[in-house]
Amino acid sequence: KNRVNILGTEFDNFTEKQFHKYLDDDLDVNANKFIVTPNPEIVLSARKDTNFSEIVNNADYVIPDGIGIIKGAKNLGTPLHERITGFDTLQYLVDTANRKLLKVYLLGSKPEVIQASAEKIKKDYPQIDLVGYHDGYFKDESDIVAEIAEKQPNIVFVALGSPKQEIFINKYRDKANAIWIGVGGSFDVFSG
Ligand code: UDP
Repeated sequence: KNRVNILGTEFDNFTEKQFHKYLDDDLDVNANKFIVTPNPEIVLSARKDTNFSEIVNNADYVIPDGIGIIKGAKNLGTPLHERITGFDTLQYLVDTANRKLLKVYLLGSKPEVIQASAEKIKKDYPQIDLVGYHDGYFKDESDIVAEIAEKQPNIVFVALGSPKQEIFINKYRDKANAIWIGVGGSFDVFSG
């Protein structure tokens, strides 16, 4: 794999276009994939937390979300092709899910934010099969995990912030052959 190490986090080095092609292929074969989108803050916290660092580096795709990562890579003499944000990836996956008539599950954010995101999907992306959604302020995740396992979505968006979302995905990704992605605060933007 062509990866670039920035202070311990191993980033994939591809263009956004190549990345999208990989995702298309993954969706076509129902592959189980985990995407992390580290920004400089996440790189620094992974440096201090080996458990979190392992989770990040064992993800299938580690993409540079932030101009600080691109600048850092250049300064270290190992430039990355380009910035690829978590938000743009969410938008691409939503568009693709609508085009390919896929099943999607949304997890995380405040109740009103995830509700508004679900409504936006139903209205603007009518070919998506939205199989479920839940806010990110739960005490017990077992019902959520059971629902994901039962519905078998093709894409699971997890917006719990870092490192919560990555820990969640790492723990439960075997429950569905989906593309799992931690999207941080992206629903706050998507819903608005
Ligand atoms: N969040 C959540 N449950 C929690 C903590 C946070 O659902 O227990 C949500 C929060 O509502 C926000 C998102 O996680 O929508 C990400 O928050 P933040 O912007 O702090 O994360 P970042 O994008 O910087 O990773």
